[in-house]
Amino acid sequence: MQEKGSISIHTENIFPIIKKFLYSDHEIFLRELVSNAVDATQKLRSLAQLGEFKGELGELKVKVSVDKDARTITIADRGLGMTAEEIKKYINQIAFSGASEFVEKYKEQDAATKDQIIGKFGMGFYSAFMVADNVEIFSRSYQEGTKGAHWTCDGSTEFTLDTTDKADRGTDIVLHVAADSDEFLEPARLRTILNKYCKFLPIEIEFEGEVINQTAPIWTKQPAELTDEDYVKFYQELYPFSEPPLFWIHLNVDYPFNLTGILYFPKVKDELQFQRNKIQLYSRQVFITDEVKDVVPEFLMLLHGVIDSPDIPLNVSRSFLQADAAVKKINTYITKKVGDKLAELYRKDRAGYEEKWSDIGLFVKYGMLSDDKFYEKAKDFVLVQNVAGKFFTLPEYQEFVQANQKSKDEQTVILYTTDAEAQHAFVQAAQDRGYDVLNLNGPLDSHFIGQLEQKLEKTTFKRVDAETASKLIDKDEAAESVLSDDDKTRLQELFTKAISNEQMHVLVEALSPQDAPVIITLPEFMRRMKDMQRTGGGGGMQMFGSLPDSYTVSINANHPVAQRVLNAEGEAGAQLARQAFDLGLLAQGMLKGEALTAFVKRSADLLAAE
Ligand code: ADP
Ligand code: MG
Repeated sequence: MQEKGSISIHTENIFPIIKKFLYSDHEIFLRELVSNAVDATQKLRSLAQLGEFKGELGELKVKVSVDKDARTITIADRGLGMTAEEIKKYINQIAFSGASEFVEKYKEQDAATKDQIIGKFGMGFYSAFMVADNVEIFSRSYQEGTKGAHWTCDGSTEFTLDTTDKADRGTDIVLHVAADSDEFLEPARLRTILNKYCKFLPIEIEFEGEVINQTAPIWTKQPAELTDEDYVKFYQELYPFSEPPLFWIHLNVDYPFNLTGILYFPKVKDELQFQRNKIQLYSRQVFITDEVKDVVPEFLMLLHGVIDSPDIPLNVSRSFLQADAAVKKINTYITKKVGDKLAELYRKDRAGYEEKWSDIGLFVKYGMLSDDKFYEKAKDFVLVQNVAGKFFTLPEYQEFVQANQKSKDEQTVILYTTDAEAQHAFVQAAQDRGYDVLNLNGPLDSHFIGQLEQKLEKTTFKRVDAETASKLIDKDEAAESVLSDDDKTRLQELFTKAISNEQMHVLVEALSPQDAPVIITLPEFMRRMKDMQRTGGGGGMQMFGSLPDSYTVSINANHPVAQRVLNAEGEAGAQLARQAFDLGLLAQGMLKGEALTAFVKRSADLLAAE
């Protein structure tokens, strides 16, 4: 005796709408049906524990099989099963009303939001109709004295329901695969889908005679039960061809939201590498997505690993997700955990922390730049390294340079180089004055410097070649010049003429006789503006057009060369000036092309002359 009926939902024909809009995500039908089977199995286990089910649990595997000839996929479980009444209630009413609710919501959205809903919405049982034109349920409840029930539906609002003599407890879902979904009849395709979504489900899933999942992945365990090897092994399972991670954080919280997971710090090195290995988001061990943009703070996207939370709403639009209170709390929690972990590493093992710095430094700076709360935490454990290779925290470094690098207006001037090789002459000159020089050559360092100048009190940064060494830190020490004012003026004119380049601003200065005869510098503010212009930042900067180069050429009045230029007659003086200027260019790495060739020739002539 078969019952025929009509499913009461508002929308007449939801099937074609869902099929069309969920197109790219058809494969999730398998995730949905397998997780239903897992849910049913776990519910039966709970009933057994409560004493409400007294029978034998027996083997509880979920079995997925495919029959190419019959064009069917079957998902069979030995869970709690459903009576005919329950099928009417749970499938006809709940599953279908869930689907129609989706369509209703969906219709209200604009096109962009629609795109985002797709794939985020757990379509549940109804998703079977994305790949099947007919679905059958054979089910028998665990409750004694109930008969097996058989339900069929072709995705329309019509269904049939009758009895069946299913011998065993549990549910078989049989999909009659539609003509346009042949791909899902390929075992290899099904295996790929199972591996993607079901690899860590808590009940064994069998496909083609083997179990495809780990029922207790390590993030579900207590950290105390786990060794470092366990964590590294798991990482390599997630990302087979990666170098081992630097360290990791085991997340575990159940109030005010529920979240478990493991975040790994990969080796990032100096580039913002293309992130192949993304963080995977799970909900109760079911893989959901590796698009975790809104759940994980932006700067933590460099991390790898797994986050599992049933509290992340998956069935809503992206904009809603961003505003969601649970998601915000999760964000804050993860940021805090990462900060705590770094602080702990720094405290417990300073040497190890310094060793890892080349890998984590970029990430820490990225975090400080993008998240103020993280800045507050990290400001005590972010490291800077000087050209001698020694590491300091910011407070340590300020302390270190305090005495020697204060300007007359009480500013601590921090000197840095972006290329210790190319700027060697300047690094050397600064060191000769007893100054320390930091290496700040990372991709984020120019932004980092800007941030530190805003945050640290009375502190400025200067690149070593921004000024002649004596002027880098303005201490108001009047320098004695051996030249008369007349001579200085003459010297300036001589050099200006010999150089004859408008971009070169010539100054005569009383430097130390040990300093170079000519020093070419690009003022700090000028270089920063040009940097900003180059990186496209600073928006309004464009109105200046392309900034002309404007260098300062400092002629060292106290260097013997100054005297020689003054004493030389006519052309010989100009030649000497030109030669000294070229030396300045050379120290700045600016001597190139024709000028370089001329310099080599002139040097040879000068050598031959004596
Ligand atoms: P959800 O899983 O979110 O509840 P679904 O549309 O996936 O929504 O399923 C609807 C309901 O149908 C489930 O809540 C459950 O009661 C029932 N159901 C689905 N599949 C099974 C199954 N294999 N065994 C027992 N009950 C099931
Ligand atoms: Mg479900």
